Amino acid sequence: MPNHTIRIRGARTNNLKCLDVTIPRGRLVVFVGVSGSGKSSLVFDTIAAEAGHQLNETFPPFARNRLPKWTRPETEEIEGLSPVVVIDQRRIGGNARSTVGTITDAWTYLRLLFSRVGSPHLGESNRFSFNDPAGMCQECSGLGEVVVSAVERFLDPDRSLAQGAILLPGFGDGGYWYSQYADIGSFDAGTPLREWTQDEREALLYGGEHAARLGTRPPKDYEGVVERFERIYLHTSDSLSDRKREVIARFTRSGTCPACHGDRLNQESRTVTVLGRTIGEMARMEITELAGLVEGVDDPAVAPVVAALTDRLRAMVTIGLGYLHLGRATTSLSGGESQRIKTVKHLGSSLIEMLYIFDEPTVGLHPHDIASMTTLLRRLRDKGNTVLVVEHDPAVMEIADQIVEIGPDAGTGGGELVFQGTFEELRTARTATAAALGDRTPVAAEPRTATGAVTVTGATRNNLKNLTVDIPTGILTVLTGVAGSGKSSLAAELVAQHDAVVIDQRPVGANRRSTPITYTGIATSVRRLFARHSGLPAGLFSANSEGACPGCGGLGVIYTDLAFMDGQETVCETCHGRRFTAEVLRHRVNGLSIADIDELTISDAVGQLPDEQIRRALVHLERVGLGYLRLGQPLTTLSGGECQRVKIARELREAAGPALYVLDEPTTGLHLRDITVLLGVLDQLVERGHTVVVIEHNLDVIRHADWAVDLGPGPGRHGGRILYQGPVSRMSGTVTAAALQEA
Ligand code: ADP
Ligand code: ADP
Ligand code: ZN
Ligand code: ZN
Repeated sequence: MPNHTIRIRGARTNNLKCLDVTIPRGRLVVFVGVSGSGKSSLVFDTIAAEAGHQLNETFPPFARNRLPKWTRPETEEIEGLSPVVVIDQRRIGGNARSTVGTITDAWTYLRLLFSRVGSPHLGESNRFSFNDPAGMCQECSGLGEVVVSAVERFLDPDRSLAQGAILLPGFGDGGYWYSQYADIGSFDAGTPLREWTQDEREALLYGGEHAARLGTRPPKDYEGVVERFERIYLHTSDSLSDRKREVIARFTRSGTCPACHGDRLNQESRTVTVLGRTIGEMARMEITELAGLVEGVDDPAVAPVVAALTDRLRAMVTIGLGYLHLGRATTSLSGGESQRIKTVKHLGSSLIEMLYIFDEPTVGLHPHDIASMTTLLRRLRDKGNTVLVVEHDPAVMEIADQIVEIGPDAGTGGGELVFQGTFEELRTARTATAAALGDRTPVAAEPRTATGAVTVTGATRNNLKNLTVDIPTGILTVLTGVAGSGKSSLAAELVAQHDAVVIDQRPVGANRRSTPITYTGIATSVRRLFARHSGLPAGLFSANSEGACPGCGGLGVIYTDLAFMDGQETVCETCHGRRFTAEVLRHRVNGLSIADIDELTISDAVGQLPDEQIRRALVHLERVGLGYLRLGQPLTTLSGGECQRVKIARELREAAGPALYVLDEPTTGLHLRDITVLLGVLDQLVERGHTVVVIEHNLDVIRHADWAVDLGPGPGRHGGRILYQGPVSRMSGTVTAAALQEA
């Protein structure tokens, strides 16, 4: 009998409470619930993990080592799974060789096309591969870019050498390299560089001829600051430490390769044309245009290649990525764009009866673009696949065959199945999602009055059409417009011109040991609290001390790094994840051991731990709606939206003067109900005198803002103009205004 359902019994991953659920196969099922309720724990950490695990089991052991590892979920029983493809928003690789063209295979077809019908005729398609020595530009090794020293950032002209004029680490007084410049008698270490002669400054930086002109010649082996920096940091084959990477990021910039002008290919391959255009020119064309162009190749010898290529390109246009170009480095794509690119790959696949799992596919999409995404999800289902989607957007709930809600609340208050049925049935159910759907009257408060304005002038970044725009200060401004219209570009320009603080969704906490405890710096207070109660030294209560479990060194898990794949994490068998020795665990405060502290939620800790310092440090996290996080939860497990709120909490706690904050789609990962929390948090920032600028598609957030700057009209070169700027309530005549009126 074929399986028509996926049956899950007794799921206990993370906060799931022995959850049973049966999901129809071959359908589009949307998982909803407040943030932190357990949707990801069910869909990713249970269903996807088990499907991935079972798939791996079908391979012989030697092959298994090369597959991504899946931690087996804590579940009594799961059946009816098929091979799984997870399409999340993790950005596509940190590899500069990966482009929109290579990742979608469109580039492979384009290369084939050039090798078959390009003139002058060549033959081999590797000639058009920038990842192959036969085709790559020698100067930049096919990267299209070269890293150069940003010399203008090396020196502070207002300081003398002794005051640290050379800003590179290790070159200031006391630094390793300091005496090589200050003590050789050629330079005056006590005078600010501004007062030096031009020759002296050049000699300091470049040595060589300039050095020969100095009154006191430097030693023969003198090495200018730039030469030395490049030798130590750039022309080194050592693997880069984090610190080195950071220095490189600060003191270099990448410039277009002077040899290939960014085309990545060698001279010979760059001049071959099809329809009068080089492959480099095609790589820079918008995909929409390119699709139209290659359809015009009517040589029957390459008809299948042209068909495959246009198929890929059209798929990208369909999901609203027509404004990209094939040469675009995937590292520069947003999370939402990355996700849609990955979707294109799978639409082209002829596999059926697969299990596709999507994480919030509407991220980065204007209401205007969401229809193309829902079409895509339906197409995948109609090919005979099971499509599971974690999503907060009602537009996606509407097209679901079935909706599953996990709840009722977040963290320990969630983890149960609270609803299963159609969208219509959900509307009349009594769940957090139903309530939020019913009560979407936006908080259109009186617009606040600006205290002034900051001006962005002459913005031409990416597609911006030389914009000059005033951003009002002391209020909440929203940047709107279809995907690719230039919102992020304008925000980046604002940051560059006014040093704004970007509060993004990138991970917080540098390593696996970071938790809310380490992040808020309450670890010391907690240890002191235990020391006060036990009479033992505070140090013993640290997971980095001899109080730590010897099995896992206080991590609670054993982590295996796998060079090319996701690492594997397993719970430590010595301490069962409790991280401390049994001796340390015996001592209690209010009935809690040091390991129990890790299990406390932030809200519980605020209420239960008798310590004012701890309370003060945590209360801001509670204020941004993260009270449900456990104190010991690794920050690496936080979603992007949660990371962002952690950062907002830090700003609430620490920011001194009025600051300018920029947030990119802060509603990502947030349930309708949590959006209200977010708006409250943004208001808190504004009430403290800060200026807040958000890029948003969410209509509730747009309505809540005081001021709007709407970009468009289209994506890419069809965008980059300001369609409207003014109070949100008076916006009209744009697709954003239309979406606001419609809802
Ligand atoms: P949702 O997807 O509904 O936002 P999650 O499934 O991500 O919720 O999280 C459910 C609960 O489990 C939350 O309290 C979250 O903090 C916690 N959690 C998530 N991942 C982990 C993890 N790897 N380890 C421990 N707790 C986790
Ligand atoms: P939005 O934020 O409105 O989605 P963006 O500002 O990200 O739009 O993009 C505007 C245009 O600039 C798009 O055509 C996009 O492809 C292009 N673009 C954005 N970032 C880069 C980049 N790093 N390199 C080249 N083009 C870019
Ligand atoms: Zn080059
Ligand atoms: Zn252990």
